[in-house]
Amino acid sequence: MAEQNLMEKIVSLCKRRGFVFPSSEIYGGIGGFWDFGPLGVELKNNIKSWWWKTMVQTRDEVVGLDTTIIHNPKVWEASGHTLSFTDPLRECKSCHKRFRVDQLEKDQCPECGGKLTEVKQFNLMFETFIGSAKETANKAYLRPETCQGIFLNFVNVLDTVQPKLPFGIAQIGKGFRNEVTLGNFIFRDREFEMMELEYFVKPGEDEKWFDYWLKERMKWYLDLGIDKKNLRFFEHPKKSLAHYSKRTVDIEYKFPFGWAELEGIANRTDFDLKNHAKFSGKDLRFQDEKGEKFFPYVIEPSVGVERIVLALLLEGYQEQKGKEEIRVVLSLNPKISPVKVAVFPLLANKPELIKMAKEIYQDLKTCFNTAWDDIGNIGKRYRRQDEAGTSWCITVDFDTLKDKTVTVRDRDTMKQERIAIDKLKDFFQTKLI
Ligand code: ATP
Repeated sequence: MAEQNLMEKIVSLCKRRGFVFPSSEIYGGIGGFWDFGPLGVELKNNIKSWWWKTMVQTRDEVVGLDTTIIHNPKVWEASGHTLSFTDPLRECKSCHKRFRVDQLEKDQCPECGGKLTEVKQFNLMFETFIGSAKETANKAYLRPETCQGIFLNFVNVLDTVQPKLPFGIAQIGKGFRNEVTLGNFIFRDREFEMMELEYFVKPGEDEKWFDYWLKERMKWYLDLGIDKKNLRFFEHPKKSLAHYSKRTVDIEYKFPFGWAELEGIANRTDFDLKNHAKFSGKDLRFQDEKGEKFFPYVIEPSVGVERIVLALLLEGYQEQKGKEEIRVVLSLNPKISPVKVAVFPLLANKPELIKMAKEIYQDLKTCFNTAWDDIGNIGKRYRRQDEAGTSWCITVDFDTLKDKTVTVRDRDTMKQERIAIDKLKDFFQTKLI
């Protein structure tokens, strides 16, 4: 399938099946903002839960946090964002559109061919005002990254969990960036959800832990089913590192529009804690077993949920030629597929089948996200569920009434097997661990 064609198909599938809608669509939309529909919200929640389970709950040395979106504005002075969180831009003198310098191929406007201004620095943070008066003194920002909330609470967490190094604090939450260049669907948004881990280590051990996280994070994507050939590391050259970073490596995915950053892994050194200590006048050092106090180094794997959603949809989308029609399948790992199981009565006009199927449906619903489908013939229902990425379909037929077994059909292999109703939960559970 032509790459651009694939992207168009994903955008259309997302709208048609309720994964992603343009935000404020009835008013013509709003650039860089997207809403997640009934299937999209499930997919997103499953990705976040899987990240939380693997990065926080199954690790002894990582705890979670949920901090506010708006911080004291001094935070952004200390973090360097007020000064340095900028994109160098050039504006078209004719159509007034702005473009990132690193994305301009020629010395003229890519849209209308007009002349461009000199380079200007543009801060990506959204401003807002606290209280009723719109004065500079009340100015605050929507966070462009979630990690500052972690640094602000560093001492609070130390006091409550008394950790040893290395240890991590993780957070999932909204981030906001007034991006200038949009496009590529949900790849670059102005409002998005970040999953960030700040992993505190002894200075001097930072390079070792950096390599550890590179491997762990790459493995995470492979475990979710992304093909190795579509993933690679990109080492940022020293001269283009962010102001806080000693080393940054991106995990890139081969999107239809080219290789692009899926996740960034940065060695933030002791930059943030040191600066917050300086600006706040508080002691933010870690005290080790020997009573020695120092600022730990920080390794940060950071990723936006929307980019994972896009990568997984692209990765999972398949068109298979059948005898009569093309089968569209969204082959998502069952751990993150929006709907795990769909239950069908073989015929929609047989009360005894409906009754039995409804019982199974209600029972499974308490454990897994389960759908009910009785519209059209079984073939149509399979197609509908395949396209939504539903992992398994259950059909209740006349044999079910006699022997209490159902047909379970696997989305990817299309293999069908008879399974006893009382074994269904175990059957799915073992595949979802
Ligand atoms: P890019 O160069 O693509 O703008 P970045 O280097 O500015 O990204 P980071 O600051 O490293 O991004 O942010 C960490 C992660 O957050 C990224 O790897 C990406 O997954 C996600 N992310 C950043 N900006 C956006 C955005 N505008 N929309 C969606 N996700 C984003």
